[in-house]
Amino acid sequence: MFRSVYLLLVFLVLWSCRQEETTPSAVPAYVLVIHGGAGALQKSEMTAEQDSQYRAMLHLALDAGEDILKNGGTSLDAITAAIRIMEDSPLFNAGKGAVFAHDGTNQMDASIMEGETLRAGAVGGVSQARNPILAARAVMEKTDHVLLTGSGADQFVLDAGLDTAGTDYFFTQRRWDSLQKILKREQQDSLSDQKFGTVGAVALDRNGLLVAGTSTGGMTNKRWNRLGDSPLIGAGTYADNRSCAVSCTGHGEYFIRYAVAHELASRMRHLGGDLQETATALLADELFPAGGTGGLIALDRHGQIAMPFTTEGMYRGFTRPGERKVAIYGDED
Ligand code: ASP
Repeated sequence: MFRSVYLLLVFLVLWSCRQEETTPSAVPAYVLVIHGGAGALQKSEMTAEQDSQYRAMLHLALDAGEDILKNGGTSLDAITAAIRIMEDSPLFNAGKGAVFAHDGTNQMDASIMEGETLRAGAVGGVSQARNPILAARAVMEKTDHVLLTGSGADQFVLDAGLDTAGTDYFFTQRRWDSLQKILKREQQDSLSDQKFGTVGAVALDRNGLLVAGTSTGGMTNKRWNRLGDSPLIGAGTYADNRSCAVSCTGHGEYFIRYAVAHELASRMRHLGGDLQETATALLADELFPAGGTGGLIALDRHGQIAMPFTTEGMYRGFTRPGERKVAIYGDED
């Protein structure tokens, strides 16, 4: 009798500790963080109308994801919904607004990762998927693979029954003009003054699940089937419930070399500490001195958020119960 009571007490103590660890009271019920790309975004170059268009679209993306999260939906559905909104807008370099490659085509990349299972999916260089993030998600959910590229990935989009669109849909005058400008200059350093515009999202849901996703048209004037960091798990996207979810934007080659998304998750997992400080130090003290510009969004299982960038600005925003913020420039906190 005494032994059973003792065992019951031990069980209750352990159970309450477990509850405490997984759902500390300070953890918000849900969090969604998004970005619409980092780059040379200067207030002086942006009209008031453009400024408000971008902010409105960031709010719409947050609305779409938050509706799902606050009704008990998953972080996977929330980031997919938020990224789709940005892919459907011509404002961002993803989906509809994807930039043009050197040969005048649109070659889009996307990836997605779940932090609990470490399941992931990605597509590189797809040209017909209306929403590349859905293609990445289908790779994760419907195949045994992680990354599909080029014509095979386009065929997969058709086989999976996803919406497709023709070249007319992906034509936007602004992106076409950017390519023509760069083609005229053909300077090696032309990449450095580009506005990037990739989109990404990370979320934490009521069940404590972290998910990350990224979608992009890559870099204007890219050649030779160049892939950046966005479709590469560990470089542009990573999620691990033991540490954090990360989505990057910027000059992809540097994010690949420094495996930025995984590096941040790894530091948080092994060293712990403040997410914002760790993420800022990674970009500012390592990537930037090496010549890499860009930014990232990150979110950990306690609901800590980081949105550092080394450029003049980054389209960004977050929402959680009772709090919402969108920002563009570096001087907005
Ligand atoms: N990281 C993307 C790439 O290199 C570009 C971007 O973030 O805008 O393809």
